[in-house]
Amino acid sequence: TPAQVAQAPEDPLFGLMRAYRQDDFDKKIDLGIGAYRDNNAKPWILPVVRKADEILHNDPNLDHEYLPISGLANFTSAAQKLILGADSVAIKENRVTSLQTISGTGAVHLGALFLAKFHPRQPRPTVYLSNPTWANHNQIFTNVGLAIDKYPYFSPTTKGLDIDGMLSSLKSAPLGSIVVLHPCAHNPTGVDPTQEQWKQIASVIRERQHFPFFDCAYQGFASGDLARDAWAIRYFIDQGFETCVSQSFAKNFGLYGERAGAFHFVSGPGAEAQRATTNIASQLAILQRSEISNPPAYGSRIASIVLNDPKLYAEWEHDLRTMSGRIIEMRRGLRQRLEAKGTPGTWDHITSQIGMFSFTGLNEKQVQILREKWHVYMTKNGRISMAGLNTHNIDYFAEAVDSTVRE
Ligand code: PMP
Repeated sequence: TPAQVAQAPEDPLFGLMRAYRQDDFDKKIDLGIGAYRDNNAKPWILPVVRKADEILHNDPNLDHEYLPISGLANFTSAAQKLILGADSVAIKENRVTSLQTISGTGAVHLGALFLAKFHPRQPRPTVYLSNPTWANHNQIFTNVGLAIDKYPYFSPTTKGLDIDGMLSSLKSAPLGSIVVLHPCAHNPTGVDPTQEQWKQIASVIRERQHFPFFDCAYQGFASGDLARDAWAIRYFIDQGFETCVSQSFAKNFGLYGERAGAFHFVSGPGAEAQRATTNIASQLAILQRSEISNPPAYGSRIASIVLNDPKLYAEWEHDLRTMSGRIIEMRRGLRQRLEAKGTPGTWDHITSQIGMFSFTGLNEKQVQILREKWHVYMTKNGRISMAGLNTHNIDYFAEAVDSTVRE
């Protein structure tokens, strides 16, 4: 009976957030959060989002009707162009189907559910996740009944990509496995393959007939350049892969709680592509209907206003550079401070890693000391959110790290 269900462990990240809130030390620092903060450690509403909100607010035709099952069409078509490129051959050939989802999480889930139900092979192929990856990947794929495994990704020695380990693991994975890839700003490591390495990865995926599944949560956030951050996805599609993409607008629009996202399925080229895409679209619509009926309106309306207006789009790019620029400044500042103090270890990875997070290399014991003695909160794996640092707390944090590493 339901009364016999055991209590589940608390989500570690949400537990961390709670502990931070309960700490009343005035210099406490939250480096666990996966959301952008401004230089005063406050949430930041993008100026372009404020403008879009104003436009929306003044729209006399606005109502609260349901969106279609697949979401707001102006949003999904703009989202498609944003991630695949306005001149994408797959869009031109009508072999992309897109649905608006409950942010990136909902997009990964819809893709996982679709593969679990409709992948032509029985038993379903195993899903390969990077080691480490965003913790939720494990649960999302497991919850729909797919088996998961890992491929090596992060090298603790170089604090960079373990490309040899990754390639050999993908080579030995069973033919036709599903491979989840982070196209930019890998969470949690901040380590991305170079374009040359992406080509090697693509070549192994092709050789082994794997299915690449891109989870893109940080487009524009990594380099400040939207096209560059989507390069890997576009490269795979240009190479003729069948693939799917989950896309989040949480970070790059600062629309975290509004849950704006999209899922795209891209069929490979060929005479059958259009028909296959239409069939897939019809099945996805049924899955979506049973899961959420139809997606939430507000976030997608905001993003749609911006994405479909060239002037606002340019302002958005400026806002993206404000966020990525501040994060890059903090990376430089932290590395400089640790190197100036002669803190034991090497710190160049802080500036070579990209996006919201840095995998510092601090171990679990050090993370605990930082939390208990210095009131600095981060996940046990030593990941810090760069957005949690600012010009007011970076000196304190560098001092805390320096002292902890020397203990
Ligand atoms: N994938 C990855 C790799 C992420 O880091 C995140 C955000 N933490 C997401 C998906 C989804 O986030 P959201 O549902 O808020 O868009």
